[in-house]
Amino acid sequence: MKEIDLRSDTVTRPTKEMLQAIMTAEVGDDVYKEDPTVNELERKLADMFGKDEALFFPTGSMTNQAAIKLHTQPGEQLICDKWAHVYNYEGGGVSFNSGVSCKLVDGDRGMITAEQVEESINPPDFYHSPLTTLVCLENTTNKGGGACYDLEEMKRIREVCNKHELGLHLDGARLFNALVKKGESPKDYGKIFDTISVCLSKGLGTPMGSVLIGDSRIMKNAIRIRKVLGGGMRQVGFMAAAGVYALDHHVERLAKDHERATEIAEVLEEQNYVGKVEPVETNIVIFYLQNESMEDEFMKHLADSNIRISNMGQGKLRIVTHLDYTEEMHQRFLETLRKIII
Ligand SMILES: *Cc1c(COP(=O)(O)O)cnc(C)c1O
Repeated sequence: MKEIDLRSDTVTRPTKEMLQAIMTAEVGDDVYKEDPTVNELERKLADMFGKDEALFFPTGSMTNQAAIKLHTQPGEQLICDKWAHVYNYEGGGVSFNSGVSCKLVDGDRGMITAEQVEESINPPDFYHSPLTTLVCLENTTNKGGGACYDLEEMKRIREVCNKHELGLHLDGARLFNALVKKGESPKDYGKIFDTISVCLSKGLGTPMGSVLIGDSRIMKNAIRIRKVLGGGMRQVGFMAAAGVYALDHHVERLAKDHERATEIAEVLEEQNYVGKVEPVETNIVIFYLQNESMEDEFMKHLADSNIRISNMGQGKLRIVTHLDYTEEMHQRFLETLRKIII
């Protein structure tokens, strides 16, 4: 029985066609900016978002960390939701790499409002508190279960940032999921944010890679910071080729992942052993069992059917649909959920 791995959309393997694109890529030394395929990927994303420049990084954590470093000086403070990836899942990099602290906002499923941002800004002339210089948003939210921001709210946050001269960074690890779901254009985001990071190895299915996008004014130091963080890579056009292929072929299909996630949530809702199921907007389903003590038995039933999902602690279970989750697996998974008795 083939394994069904729903822990994350990072577990995908390159498709045959993507491997072909990797194998035939033209490459050079990207530290000298001489890799034509990396240059192509960076140009493609900068143009897509209506920004001047883009820079290829090995991981999404590194793009976020570089962005935070570009926007801040040690001792300053950034504003983010309490569930933000930059705060929770980047190993404390905000303080380690940039010497910056986080003002955490109690948002809704990982999303914060313009009002909350404005309330969180320390008065700049009150020299006792850290100087607020940056706001980081996440779209879609990871810990918030793939929730998507309202574009108008992000515009209002932009206005608050303009008024108080704050930078605005988007952690867009799963931004393409939001774009497909909401039918939004990348250029809308280019207009709102100073910097945007996107991941190619989540829903888009490449083996690695993330890109930081922004205007020259802020990006001019990005290559130096990438070097400092150890992210300068050589013939990495092989991986950029996977990225170019994914942008051309794997974006529209994200709608399928969203549809399947919604169907999974519907089946979960019908089961006696399931408690709350969080609203599903994209490819992430977060749910709780009736009782936390049922977890071991539930996970064992799944393991017996060779199915893996994530346990996020505090009773939170997570399912993420992706490119390698086929219709056949989907039907088998739904059937398994219906058959479990606890
Ligand atoms: C996955 C993810 C990242 C980046 O993670 P890496 O594993 O470092 O590539 C950043 N932000 C969010 C919201 C994510 O889900």
